Amino acid sequence: MGFSTDAIHAGQHPDEVTGAVITPIYQTSTYAQQELGRNKGYEYGRTHNLTRQCLEANIAALEKGKYGVAFSSGLAATHALMSLVKAGDHVIVTNNVYGGTFRLFELIMKDYGLDFSWVDTTDLRNIKNAIKQNTKLVYLETPTNPMLYLTDLEGAARICRENNLISIVDNTFMSPYFQNPLSSGCDIAIHSSTKYINGHSDVIGGIIVTNNEKVHERIRYVQNAIGAVPSPFDCWLILRSTKTLAVRMERHNQNAIKFAGYLIKSGMAAKVYYPGLPDHPQHELAKKQMRGFGGMISADFEDVERAKMLLKNVRVFTLGESLGGVESLISHPASMTHASVPKEEREKMGLTDSLVRFSIGLEDIEDLIEDVHSAMK
Ligand SMILES: *Cc1c(COP(=O)(O)O)cnc(C)c1O
Repeated sequence: MGFSTDAIHAGQHPDEVTGAVITPIYQTSTYAQQELGRNKGYEYGRTHNLTRQCLEANIAALEKGKYGVAFSSGLAATHALMSLVKAGDHVIVTNNVYGGTFRLFELIMKDYGLDFSWVDTTDLRNIKNAIKQNTKLVYLETPTNPMLYLTDLEGAARICRENNLISIVDNTFMSPYFQNPLSSGCDIAIHSSTKYINGHSDVIGGIIVTNNEKVHERIRYVQNAIGAVPSPFDCWLILRSTKTLAVRMERHNQNAIKFAGYLIKSGMAAKVYYPGLPDHPQHELAKKQMRGFGGMISADFEDVERAKMLLKNVRVFTLGESLGGVESLISHPASMTHASVPKEEREKMGLTDSLVRFSIGLEDIEDLIEDVHSAMK
């Protein structure tokens, strides 16, 4: 089936009792058992919940995977993946991953005996060179936040296969609509469903998708054993949201292409970072491994005061963290999402104090452009 058909139908069936077309919210902590040792496959809410199971099957289908396992946040999903390794193991990570991923690995998991190498994965040779005897996982994020650098997924997957390493891709920025890491040969796709998958800025959630049965068994076990499960209501909200994921992503993409074009034409930004621009250094790779370029754009306004003026004067854009919702957001990575990265490190990757990040929403593009135009006047 096509993506939109799966988005609307996969994992869901009309309710057997009433015929309700929409999956009910099974808001229950426990289930009646028929007799000792006999039940309907549902024993306890943390372990089994039908709303959650429908959501997991739905997103697994969209990511072209067999198995989906949902969590109460993207970071809870990332944490669950750390149960694929143990003390003494080594993990290779894209150097400018989501800040929370960096914090989880360096400030928490390191204390449990894991060793992390932070690598510029835009060049695959750096992955190869970082492999050690005890390397077990390669954790990639592409495109990255906020500089929108890409990693070649097919190439990285090949290196991982040749070296018996599990490859993981944080696919949050592209959503399953524009990029499918499993189809590129990677083992695991992970999402913060808080962002594009839910898309309405009203849920925190995460999900892991894989075709690897052993990985799935382990993650499923950990989901129950650690217990960071999403609520039935949150699952229901995300399940409602995936039905419109295709149309939302098309509009995010169209709006972002026009918005990036405006930023360049107006000459107000010294640099515009967007994989859809022909002068993005990895534009060819973007066209090869993504079906669209997404809704995230960063632009350097050259001087901090000009950036501040923009952030202060916009009316349609909202100043805030997060991304991927229907409403457009604007943020200042240097003082918000990336404040914990030392200034020197930030500037090395182009993340200057005058860099502004846009999450382009679904408003009328004319209004978004007019908003920035008048804010800068
Ligand atoms: C937000 C985000 C996360 C973390 O997800 P939460 O749902 O906030 O826990 C991980 N990766 C990326 C790329 C994100 O944008």
